[in-house]
Amino acid sequence: MKTLKIAIQKSGRLNEKSVELLKNCGLSFENYKSSLISPVSNFPLEILFLRDDDIPEYVQDGIADLGIVGENVIEETEVDVAYLQRLGYGKCSLKLAIPVNSDIKTIADLNGKAIATSYPSILKRFLAKNNITADIRTISGSVEIAPGLGMSNAICDLVSTGGTLKSNGLQAFADVLKSEAILIGRKGEENNPLTQELIQRVQSVLRAKETKYVVLNAENKNLDTIKTLLPGIKSPTVVPLAEEGWSAVHTVIPEKDFWERISSLKNAGAQGIVVMPIEKIIL
Ligand code: ATP
Ligand code: ZN
Repeated sequence: MKTLKIAIQKSGRLNEKSVELLKNCGLSFENYKSSLISPVSNFPLEILFLRDDDIPEYVQDGIADLGIVGENVIEETEVDVAYLQRLGYGKCSLKLAIPVNSDIKTIADLNGKAIATSYPSILKRFLAKNNITADIRTISGSVEIAPGLGMSNAICDLVSTGGTLKSNGLQAFADVLKSEAILIGRKGEENNPLTQELIQRVQSVLRAKETKYVVLNAENKNLDTIKTLLPGIKSPTVVPLAEEGWSAVHTVIPEKDFWERISSLKNAGAQGIVVMPIEKIIL
């Protein structure tokens, strides 16, 4: 079978999490910072370490079969690739921001104004959709200093916490795109059995991250109430304890409403609750 190639960021915000994800998928490889290609010893896969901006085109053109890159970069390069899996990290938003003392109040006020950005093609489409004509000034970095230098009235830039905007006297006033890291593939790649195997491994790692393994003890008279509070993959496992009239309940709980569930379990009589991380969930 043909060896697959996956392109990930060589260094930067997505590198570490992408390497971690592939390692959690059970792939064994050296993370040499100096080399461009790393072979995987236990799966027919090679990892290409690239600048993130190059990844969408490499995948579209088939130089790599798969890639992990921010949605913002994919949308900006306007490539034709398959979105295989959203990965839940590298979250950020492309936002319009203005100086705190600006008289721009609504998107319509951007008409005739200058906007600095590193994302001209996404911004162009956004403005067209909103029937705005503005002067897009493309700059490759430090976009947030443009208004202060008199280069633009507003900016369109990536924001995760907003700290950089604030320290430059700017405030966000509209969302252009919400982004996260995405596993992409060359068109048709989703039909390749090796790719399908890899996607399944990625999904099992993502599912495990969203859930915790929980073991608790309860008196048998409380079991019915406790069971109604537990989702589990099918139903919880109930094992009798050495102490007469008591059982241990094993189950899996989603991370997002974890604390609410734990407190309702305690109220229903659960004791000695032990919570453990899960490595993988294979359905
Ligand atoms: P490269 O050297 O690969 O070109 P880069 O400097 O263009 O790297 P990074 O700053 O490492 O890129 O960001 C990579 C991706 O991380 C972004 O494209 C975006 O999807 C995501 N990201 C998450 N949070 C942020 C943020 N606060 N600012 C910028 N990018 C972010
Ligand atoms: Zn880049």
